[in-house]
Amino acid sequence: MDFIVLTLFPELMDSFFSHGMISRGIEKKIITGKSINIRDFSTNRHNTVDDRPYGGGSGMVMKPEVLQAAILHAKKKNPGFKVILMSPQGRKFNQEKALGYAAQCKGLIFVCGRYEGIDERAFTHHIDEEISIGDYVMTGGEVASMVIIDSTARLIPGVLGSSKSYKSDSFTNDRLEYAQYTRPEEFEDLKVPQILLSGNHEKIRQWRKKSSLQRTFLKRPDLLEKRDLDAKEKIIIRQWVKELKTLIE
Ligand code: SAM
Repeated sequence: MDFIVLTLFPELMDSFFSHGMISRGIEKKIITGKSINIRDFSTNRHNTVDDRPYGGGSGMVMKPEVLQAAILHAKKKNPGFKVILMSPQGRKFNQEKALGYAAQCKGLIFVCGRYEGIDERAFTHHIDEEISIGDYVMTGGEVASMVIIDSTARLIPGVLGSSKSYKSDSFTNDRLEYAQYTRPEEFEDLKVPQILLSGNHEKIRQWRKKSSLQRTFLKRPDLLEKRDLDAKEKIIIRQWVKELKTLIE
């Protein structure tokens, strides 16, 4: 899968593409990552990409013709790629979206705004989706595009060390991931749960299901409303209620 980012700060993206799991995915030729400098598409003498807002007010607005030229260039070179505008006003990004991109898209083109945002007319024709990473306003879309690329790329087979790694991840199944432990067996008087040392894979699986459900219940009960409890989860909850009752009786 290919990720192309239209930005005024290509160095930011280049650094991102050359580190960690993303750079390993690129080395393995499973994904590619490229930045395109929007400023290269300015046709005026001073290479300006922004101008004052009509109607007055503070800040500057990104000019539509420069953005349009950059988007058309990226689209022409990469036909069939989805064009995503990074915007605090867009639909909120989540794990489900990342799974959809990873499964269905051959490539994504991100348009990163700066200043007060972009001229409204720049996205009338060439933007497929407007996406936000949360209800807050950042100074630019680059970090938002990194969030989406990072969380999408790790779902593409081969990018992570183990293909199973993301299947138990939080949100994948409307549940949070179970508690994780590593060496040492005891740390500051806290011991690793005995079952995890037992080597009994079925018991470990059951323990993890219970841990996942309990954490979801305690930290993100809203997720339980997204998917009904399955039969095994109901048993776990009943058992948990019994355990809690014995504590207070
Ligand atoms: N004035 C705009 C508004 O209030 O809607 C915000 C512009 S923001 C300062 C500049 C750029 O940062 C936006 O064009 C967008 O690309 C990016 N950006 C800021 N917050 C974002 C968010 N929560 N999600 C995605 N992109 C964001």
